[in-house]
Amino acid sequence: MKITIIGHWGGFPKVGEATSGYLIEHNDYKLLLECGSGVVSSLQKVIDLGELDAVLISHYHYDHCCDIGPLQYARQIKTQLGEINNTLPIYAPNNEFFNLLKWENYTKGLCFNEKSILKLGPFEISFIKNVHPVESYSIKIICDNKILSFTSDTSYFNELNEFFVDSDILICESSFYANMDGKKAGHLNSKEAGMLAEKSKVKKLILTHLPHFGDLNNLLIQTKEHYKGEVILAEYLLEVYL
Ligand code: ZN
Repeated sequence: MKITIIGHWGGFPKVGEATSGYLIEHNDYKLLLECGSGVVSSLQKVIDLGELDAVLISHYHYDHCCDIGPLQYARQIKTQLGEINNTLPIYAPNNEFFNLLKWENYTKGLCFNEKSILKLGPFEISFIKNVHPVESYSIKIICDNKILSFTSDTSYFNELNEFFVDSDILICESSFYANMDGKKAGHLNSKEAGMLAEKSKVKKLILTHLPHFGDLNNLLIQTKEHYKGEVILAEYLLEVYL
């Protein structure tokens, strides 16, 4: 599996970068996990938008989904130019924004819930419902006996430890520093990210959904106080293999 971090900022993108977006590839299959602001522009630094096989959205907050519209127009224009000839499936929760995922025959919406097990190309994907102001899911992707996990947006709850157990990589949000309480907003702080990774025995931790304030290196320092494994900060267009 190859993971490319297309965007990793919480809320809004830094200049020239993007909010949540992760390109997950294996054997030429290309899955876009999250499609936040700036993702459509940034993704084109890595692949052509016509190459995507599927999109998966954890929840309908703008920093995770608002570039779906531009992506739909891109697929329309590429179809009209004769570059592509297939409908892009977009997997997402079934609530009030679900109908927007269908754009003529260019994209279509397919829903999942926490009981779903999706088989997308080489990926087997399962879910647990997060604690967040809107319906949101943590996501586990299994491929070739490797486990890639992703918290999306959530505050801490015990069932996450079991869901993420033995992940090879956990991409974990750290929206706040250790001395800040993220619970009210439905987010994790750096201490909770470390505790979650330690209890789940994950092999490698990538902190993401990063805040626009403070010294981001302190997130690493604070996380390491609670987690003995390898931890790094998400970086724009960083490639990670597992
Ligand atoms: Zn959110």
